[in-house]
Amino acid sequence: MDFRDSPTEQAFRREVRDFLDAELPSSVAHRRTEWGLFNGTGRADQGYADFFKTWTAKLNARGWGAPAWPKEHGGGGLSVKEQFILSEEFAWKRAPRPGGIGHGWAGPTIMVYGSEEQKRDYLPKIISGEDVWCQLFSEPGAGSDLASLQTRAVRDGDDYVVNGQKIWTSGAHRADMGILLARTNPDAPKHRGISYFLVDMKTPGITVRPLVNMLNSHEFNEVYFEDVRVPASHMLGEENRGWYIGTTTLDFERSGIATSVSHQLIARDLVSYAQEHEVGKRSLAANPHLRLELADRAVEAQVESLICYRIITMQERGEIPNKESSIAKLYSSELDVRLAVTGMHLGGMRAQVRDFDDEPSLGGKLARFYMHSTTSPIGGGTSEIQRNIIATRGLGMPRG
Ligand SMILES: Cc1cc2nc3c(=O)[nH]c(=O)nc-3n(C[C@H](O)[C@H](O)[C@H](O)COP(=O)(O)OP(=O)(O)OC[C@H]3O[C@@H](n4cnc5c(N)ncnc54)[C@H](O)[C@@H]3O)c2cc1C
Repeated sequence: MDFRDSPTEQAFRREVRDFLDAELPSSVAHRRTEWGLFNGTGRADQGYADFFKTWTAKLNARGWGAPAWPKEHGGGGLSVKEQFILSEEFAWKRAPRPGGIGHGWAGPTIMVYGSEEQKRDYLPKIISGEDVWCQLFSEPGAGSDLASLQTRAVRDGDDYVVNGQKIWTSGAHRADMGILLARTNPDAPKHRGISYFLVDMKTPGITVRPLVNMLNSHEFNEVYFEDVRVPASHMLGEENRGWYIGTTTLDFERSGIATSVSHQLIARDLVSYAQEHEVGKRSLAANPHLRLELADRAVEAQVESLICYRIITMQERGEIPNKESSIAKLYSSELDVRLAVTGMHLGGMRAQVRDFDDEPSLGGKLARFYMHSTTSPIGGGTSEIQRNIIATRGLGMPRG
């Protein structure tokens, strides 16, 4: 890949930088997106919510709210490289962007498999922020082996009647809509009896129960379906072909590209922390073990950015990353954990403090990042599953 921007790309990068310099209030630049953490409590305050609404409208006016989406659906229609430049510049400035399941996974899947009516009904509300989406895939007995899911959808007149339980559903308590995988043919081989539905989360019979994580934050949920009537017109694609549509959603989920910058920023923040703090009147940065550990993290963040560049290059050539997405997901989520462990080594006992006013613990950020990092190698397909994909599709080894 040629790492240099072409003159047109240079001009676009300048445009994004100028926009952020002029429009991004410094008071919010560091709030929600920093280190991939929420603002400490997991809850957005009203001031931030109001800012984000206006901010989303400003980005949408430029097509930057959904830069990868085609213009006909309200997106920016940007090239792969322009999307990458936008992501990089926003990440370097720690600037928030609309995103999540609607923008990143549900919307793109609807674009590929949806009818014209479904595209018209759902896509504009994702862009405007009116509809927030959640992903109803995992079940208590179906995570890595998702195809063994048991939630049933039985045709009854113009509806399907859904019964079953989903788990780990991020944001279901805030969601207006959900993408649902349910079994429509229990007699078919497991991958061939699943259908994909677009479900209104306010439908009678849906119960959302909170699951509070070890950060004391309510992010994911259990979702119960009891005789929930979903109109047949809300099925995406054909009956019993949902597994193949679901794998498209998972490909979108795994091919995010923005995190390499955030890891470079975290590595930099940790170096600054080492330079600014002392133990026994000696700078942490002079400690030979910590120096080497920090150097490793800085190198790894650079390696991650090269993995991202490789994916961008493939996408620019019209190739579809497959094992490459698994390599990126594996490397990025495990780097999250290594960075968090380095943060704990630097902070020592202070790193265990979760108090938001405690300066030596970076306002509790070291502890929260450490706890949060444990989820990275699990969500979106575990590290073991990514390694299996790399071994079989990447290295040509037989299935175990
Ligand atoms: C923060 C977070 C958010 C999430 N949000 C959502 C969401 O919004 N919607 C949703 O549907 N799901 C969500 N999930 C669930 C996630 O997709 C599953 O947790 C994940 O797929 C793993 O499934 P499991 O937890 O059932 O673990 P299991 O599949 O039971 O795996 C248990 C262990 O066995 C290992 N294992 C399993 N199979 C193999 C194999 N073949 N080879 C080697 N090792 C194997 C796994 O790697 C893991 O270590 C979320 C998870 C997290 C952590």
